[in-house]
Amino acid sequence: MEKETDSSEMFIDPVCLMKVDSGNKNLMFTHQTRTYYFCAESCRKRFAGNPDKYLSNKSPKRKGLWGRYLDRLNKTTGGKSLNCH
Ligand SMILES: [Zn+2]
Repeated sequence: MEKETDSSEMFIDPVCLMKVDSGNKNLMFTHQTRTYYFCAESCRKRFAGNPDKYLSNKSPKRKGLWGRYLDRLNKTTGGKSLNCH
């Protein structure tokens, strides 16, 4: 028996950015020698239709969702930290 890959390895679905299990071979897609895994067939189809759209999201020029969220938070709070209680 050959062991292909470590089934505990996790990948990120480039469409919805969810963690996905590499064990689901029905939901993988190979693009430019890299293999991507998806949480669902709908995500895989969206990626297959336009891979560059999702891969370009990783451009360092653009802030991630979290960075934009923090920016907005800073604006609405005037830079003060929120009280959590
Ligand atoms: Zn997904």
